[in-house]
Amino acid sequence: MKPILYIIIPCYNEEKVLPITAPLFLEQLSCMQDKGLISSKSKIMFVDDGSKDSTWDIIKSLSIDNKSFIGIAQSRNRGHQNAVLAGLMEAMDKCDITISIDCDGQDDISVMTQMVEEYLSGSEVVYGVRNNRKTDTFFKRATAEGFYKFLNMMGAEVIFNHADYRMISSKVLKEFANFKEVNLFLRGMVPLVGFKSSSVYYERKERFAGESHYPLRRMLALAIDGITSLSVKPLRLISAFGIGMSIVSGIGLVWAIVSKIVGFTAPGWASIVAAICLLSSIQLICIGIIGEYIGKIYLEVKNRPRYIISERTEDEEK
Ligand code: UDP
Ligand code: MG
Repeated sequence: MKPILYIIIPCYNEEKVLPITAPLFLEQLSCMQDKGLISSKSKIMFVDDGSKDSTWDIIKSLSIDNKSFIGIAQSRNRGHQNAVLAGLMEAMDKCDITISIDCDGQDDISVMTQMVEEYLSGSEVVYGVRNNRKTDTFFKRATAEGFYKFLNMMGAEVIFNHADYRMISSKVLKEFANFKEVNLFLRGMVPLVGFKSSSVYYERKERFAGESHYPLRRMLALAIDGITSLSVKPLRLISAFGIGMSIVSGIGLVWAIVSKIVGFTAPGWASIVAAICLLSSIQLICIGIIGEYIGKIYLEVKNRPRYIISERTEDEEK
């Protein structure tokens, strides 16, 4: 039996690029069907992430033109990770494998063939890994690579240069569905599920049209979310730092007592001010890090739904 593939594509304000890339996704789907790799029931599923432009209208008209296109719409913009999750959960019971990919054509669509072949030879998860970033600007490349290194240093283990272009079998998704956390960082969570995995490599291209939704500010936010969702290493670092500082303070105390006894107690205004400034700023950073975790706990205990689907193109057919 040929596997049913669902290609999951999150879209947020992508009216410029969708008309260009949608036919390319369809071409790739037909190509894999012609090769006999996947079932004719395979679909391309767009997830509209509360777009404010005509993205959802484009998705609806695509689904009318061709039965291979289907779409779901989130009730409002919830972000890329939630959009991908909504698509994966929606597809889980309808297919054998899913491939998630951005809609902007940056990720090489043709390596989907390799991903499916990897599945057919036994992998349950296949990561799409960028093997170079020639087309990214120097700044984007440096910050993006720094992002992966920093994540790993902080204990959030992610696959270097892998973002959210990956194949996951429905078998893995059913286990993944038990990871109930609301703070999502999919690329760090998927490896935690386990199962046999492999990687395929591709060259990252430029966006076909439209603009990136991930400027430095959002990348930093994603990095902080990733670290605090996956690892408690920053908290350990605070404790380790606290221990280090206690030792230094102990030495300082001995020095102060000895100085007092010896009678060498010159007015030390500058050193006191410097110590207060340094220590209070460090304390504030530490409280901030702890606060970040408390914020995460707050969001987790509320256990709000991770996505809300407001419309489906398939419903309209009925
Ligand atoms: N995206 C989304 N919701 C958002 C922001 C982005 O669904 O709030 C989608 C977007 O349409 C695209 C993908 O996530 O398909 C990746 O976004 P983008 O290309 O802007 O990021 P970059 O590739 O520049 O990191
Ligand atoms: Mg992009």
